Amino acid sequence: MKFSGLQKTSLLDYPDKVASVLFAPGCNLHCAYCHNWEIATNPQPPFLQEATILEILEERKKYVDAIVITGGEPCMHKELPKFLAKLKDRGFFVKLDTNGFYPDVLGVCLNIVDYVALDIKTCLEKYEQLGAQDTNNLQKSIEILKEDKVPYEFRTTIVPELVTLQNIEQICKLSEGSKIHALQQFMPENAPDKHYQKLQRYAPEVIDEFANKLSKYTEKVILRI
Ligand code: SF4
Repeated sequence: MKFSGLQKTSLLDYPDKVASVLFAPGCNLHCAYCHNWEIATNPQPPFLQEATILEILEERKKYVDAIVITGGEPCMHKELPKFLAKLKDRGFFVKLDTNGFYPDVLGVCLNIVDYVALDIKTCLEKYEQLGAQDTNNLQKSIEILKEDKVPYEFRTTIVPELVTLQNIEQICKLSEGSKIHALQQFMPENAPDKHYQKLQRYAPEVIDEFANKLSKYTEKVILRI
């Protein structure tokens, strides 16, 4: 498997662990606020090849407990489960970030990884704005994670216009019965679409209102704002 980038150290991407982060190229969605849009929509060489990555990670083992696979959308790559197994064989904790549109690959990965973060980006109807015509696969992935085979979180980046007070009601229903749901602040400065660059982030009191609603459906709400 090849990757578009490697962040050697992160204290934010794996709960309570020091992690390295790998960025998989390409994505099936086209979110106008994507902060990794260059690698998501138009990944360009040079790519980091698997052998090189494994060599680097082996060297960093004394500093890093965990590897986070993010993107882009890692589950687009059919060779992902094999690569994750190689990371586990080397003794790392492994976390997978996904947008949920590849439930079959996700299902295989659940036998390997230690933690999954799945994005619930907006209500189902608005996924069309992100480039998805059909959300059945997303709904399948949500249900697979709720089976609790592996610790997981749902996450929602609270992008104004995409996540309104009305939309949060449906997001709550999708999340119903989940263990953890994280609300993340939107970063307008990195958005590829100028319209989104100009949007004002939600104020803390609005985010609190979202969190209050969500807390009735999930066991724990985490705020990353
Ligand atoms: S799913 Fe994630 S990586 Fe893909 S376009 Fe949306 S924000 Fe970017």
